[in-house]
Amino acid sequence: MLIGIDDTDSPQGMCTTYLGAVLARRLIRRHMRVREARLVRLNPNVTWKTRGNAAVMLDVEGDPEHAFTLACDLVEELADQSCGNTNPGVVVADRKIDPAFYQKAVTDFCTVEEAIAILNRAGARYRGWKNRRGLIGATAAVASELPDTTSEILVYRQPERFGTPREVDRASLFAAEAATFPHTWDTVDGANDLVVCVPHTPDPVLFGIRGESPQWVMAARQMIGSEPPGIEQIWVTNQGTDAHLLPGTTGHLHELLSYFVPGTVTQAPQTGTGGHVSFVMKDGEHPVRCMAYEPTKNFRQIVRQLLPSDRVIAVGSFKKGSINLEKLKIVSLAKAETTRPPLCTACNKRMTSDGKGKGWKCKKCSARKDAPEVQEIPRTLAPGWYEVPPTARRHLARPLCRGLPDF
Ligand code: ATP
Repeated sequence: MLIGIDDTDSPQGMCTTYLGAVLARRLIRRHMRVREARLVRLNPNVTWKTRGNAAVMLDVEGDPEHAFTLACDLVEELADQSCGNTNPGVVVADRKIDPAFYQKAVTDFCTVEEAIAILNRAGARYRGWKNRRGLIGATAAVASELPDTTSEILVYRQPERFGTPREVDRASLFAAEAATFPHTWDTVDGANDLVVCVPHTPDPVLFGIRGESPQWVMAARQMIGSEPPGIEQIWVTNQGTDAHLLPGTTGHLHELLSYFVPGTVTQAPQTGTGGHVSFVMKDGEHPVRCMAYEPTKNFRQIVRQLLPSDRVIAVGSFKKGSINLEKLKIVSLAKAETTRPPLCTACNKRMTSDGKGKGWKCKKCSARKDAPEVQEIPRTLAPGWYEVPPTARRHLARPLCRGLPDF
């Protein structure tokens, strides 16, 4: 059977992955076998999410009725239902659920009614609390088929420490990243000297290590010193796989969906208030603004060097009419040129303009020229892929250390 759970946390505490990890232990204690623990991230632009729009799935061998009761009891026990925006959902399915529902949930928007119709068709057991929105994520988790996966080990805190400051040895995090990158990533952000893998919210997570396999995340985890940890769970995930991206063309982008979009820069980058950098690109008739927000730090230096006529692929979510960049491919660079008044070859002096469209004249000998002198400026950018730093990376965004995208 597949067990799906979602929407159990609030900004004040809890985390659906923690609930999933506790449930896995309770199922094992009742002699059920947990074949896989899966953590899926869904459309990152869902506004009613608490943090990272996560949902979990456990693939379990055992009695579905018993497992359903245990899962519902645990939600009653642990979910932070005091929060108005916490609407848990639990699904137990012993028949396949159409993976198209997961596809839609990770790239687009779904309704509770759609989830329930699919669950009824599959004869699944399910329960939704309050407005039952958690059934969307829980259904997507059990429906998920992942063509590409990564691993994350989540180390949780001892319950008595929830809500207190975390103690994780900073130097050990940098050492773990140095020893295991590129097989693990986003433990720290070296260029910005920041720890990335330790949350600042009052949830049960102590830290999480992301990487390409259970072996690699475990190798990094074993190097990390911290307060005494509670339970630990290695998850199979769709994180770092670009599962949220759709092919897009300018003029045909939908709000709150995420795309890779080809275009040609039409307006040079500008830095606005707050340090946000933006430029306009076009593919055919339709212009679209691309944004590199201040938290994307050094990535903005790349964006600032773009010039009109550069060809790019912009990758990111379409929000309020702009693409919020996660990655950028520079496909080809335009020639950069400057012009200056031509040289009078007889006098070795620069000529002066005779007015717009009237050419240039040497003040000394009155020689004339029609065209200015054109000079090529060497470009400082190189074609290729660029990405935001780990501190600004979204859960689903595939880091370039996993290989270059083929779109
Ligand atoms: P948690 O740790 O509780 O999962 P979170 O940040 O992952 O926290 P949730 O609190 O689960 O976010 O809130 C997300 C809500 O949005 C859930 O109810 C989920 O079912 C719903 N949801 C997820 N994806 C979609 C989607 N594509 N369309 C509509 N609703 C969605």
